[in-house]
Amino acid sequence: KTDNEDVLVVEDLGVSFDGFKAVDGFNFYLAKNHVHVIIGPNGAGKTTVLDLICGKTKATSGSVKFKGKELRKQQEFKIVRAGIGRKFQTPSTYENLTVFENLELSHPAGRGVFGCLTFRRTPEILERCHSVARQIGLSDKMNTEAGILSHGQKQWLEIGMLLMQDPEIIMLDEPVAGMSVRERAQTAELIRSISDHRSVIVIEHDMEFVREIADRVTVMHMGKILAEGSMDTVSKDPKVIEVYIGH
Ligand code: ADP
Repeated sequence: KTDNEDVLVVEDLGVSFDGFKAVDGFNFYLAKNHVHVIIGPNGAGKTTVLDLICGKTKATSGSVKFKGKELRKQQEFKIVRAGIGRKFQTPSTYENLTVFENLELSHPAGRGVFGCLTFRRTPEILERCHSVARQIGLSDKMNTEAGILSHGQKQWLEIGMLLMQDPEIIMLDEPVAGMSVRERAQTAELIRSISDHRSVIVIEHDMEFVREIADRVTVMHMGKILAEGSMDTVSKDPKVIEVYIGH
């Protein structure tokens, strides 16, 4: 993809846990409608970076600007509402509700006051449920209980639940963990289709998968950025090769 404007500008971000710098001097520029993948060995600080961006962990330094607005000191729910959605690795579907109901309840209007679950079925919400179901490939599973979906289908439903909130940025932590080869290919396609209209940040270990989806790659090591650029560029970087072979 060509150079687009940056929707998220992260500068000099850092956090310490008991004096240990888990993330240090982290700079990250997420371009509109790009898939930006963060890779790096275990413990490099990748998950912590997502935690800092979405406000789950408070940064000790730096700034996180979303469309020019500083988010660093905002509360987590306000960051979600501003348009940054995150899929965690822990399952978040309602197992005994159908795919349709899970999607419906994820629409911002389905959440009612004080977070109570309420059904407010409007034509607009219905239409969104169907269009999201098409995008995640679950149109024919609308009346299936989430609990009996395959592992891959559950992951797509969770991505669909995020899409219901119409976020500008989606963050995915190891989206293809535990998936079959075929499910991986479908997930790659889904992520590419999401990036037609949104920006996506992905943490991923599977290099083949990274190659398929990434517009840009940031390599982390020991809390810092080791390399940044296209997958071709970073995979030829001697520093990156050393970290991966040495690991
Ligand atoms: P990655 O996702 O790249 O595997 P993480 O971001 O999970 O790495 O962790 C980076 C480092 O920060 C690790 O050494 C981890 O033990 C440490 N860390 C992460 N969160 C906390 C926390 N809440 N308290 C203390 N240490 C933490």
